[in-house]
Amino acid sequence: MSALLRSTVLAAARSPRLERAITRLPVSRAVVARFVAGTSTTQVLRACESLLRSQCFVSIDYLGEDTTDPAGADATVAQYLALIAALGALPQAEVAAGAVRPLEVSVKLSALGQAMPGAGHAIAREHARQICAAAEAAGIWVTVDAEDHTTTDSTLSIVRELRADYPWLGAVLQAYLRRTEDDCRAMAGPGSRIRLCKGAYDEPESVAFRDKAEVDASYLRCLGVLTAGAGYPMIASHDPAVIAAAGVGVQAAQRKTEEYEYQMLYGIRADEQRRLAVAGNHVRVYVPFGDQWYGYFVRRLAERPANLGFFLRALVGN
Ligand code: FAD
Repeated sequence: MSALLRSTVLAAARSPRLERAITRLPVSRAVVARFVAGTSTTQVLRACESLLRSQCFVSIDYLGEDTTDPAGADATVAQYLALIAALGALPQAEVAAGAVRPLEVSVKLSALGQAMPGAGHAIAREHARQICAAAEAAGIWVTVDAEDHTTTDSTLSIVRELRADYPWLGAVLQAYLRRTEDDCRAMAGPGSRIRLCKGAYDEPESVAFRDKAEVDASYLRCLGVLTAGAGYPMIASHDPAVIAAAGVGVQAAQRKTEEYEYQMLYGIRADEQRRLAVAGNHVRVYVPFGDQWYGYFVRRLAERPANLGFFLRALVGN
């Protein structure tokens, strides 16, 4: 997709007017169902049980972002606590201390109040702490998603702080950011869990590589740092070149199966997810659910012209 079209589609992800228009269209829900596993906890659990049966692990995201009212942030925490309680009742929550946990939730700090003026950083940190405490008791991991670059410092400092009590807490680094190779070096220490992705937001040239070849090259450099490090790399990509390079890198670093994992998004390259899992790899599928699917959905459209075309054709009824 051209950089201009990608920027235009990503700008739509931040438009409340377009959000109102698109979320009201009956056809949107049918297309969204390809990427989002329903609106309720019951529906997402059903999708997860099917993935777990096919030997994949899961990371569940309750959709929502950029929450600036306290009641909205509290409601998101309540949803996560209910989700974690339900996950804790699954047999996969029974894991030995220190072992890889098949069940995980992914959390966006902006949905927990990070963008609230004044105390947003501290509010999001304490909300995340509540979620981590519940997850620890239930045998579930938490990873903090990466959002636009204005949040990176706040997000990574919250992860660092919470890791003092919850050393298994994961963070996401985006290879398109120029700073990320350094962040990988700083965060590749023992016990750290880093999900490396390319990055899904529309970032300025001053902080991010905008050329696809440069992003891909940055991803491979960052992957090299993480696989050579002492942490647990989580290779989040659908890109065949990344998956092939990761296979070579983990072998060269003599990592065992339980010392890294592949990750992909729900509904994207499901055959490849199964192929990797059946071949004996750990594969975790990121499974989003909830009503607030608009921003997530538009970012998926921006990643691939075919997705945008499919959505536009559905709109005009072809
Ligand atoms: P690309 O070069 O974009 O794609 C490679 C190939 O993958 C494509 O040719 C196509 O075959 C397939 N593909 C990729 N995207 C799609 C799609 N939407 N639909 C259909 N096929 C597709 N980004 C963030 O900014 N913050 C996060 O916290 C974050 N968390 C993520 C968690 C996981 C588990 C994953 C897998 C991705 C996450 N992302 C996140 C998104 C990521 O940054 C990329 O935008 C996205 O994964 C596409 O990049 P890619 O590595 O798959 O490679």
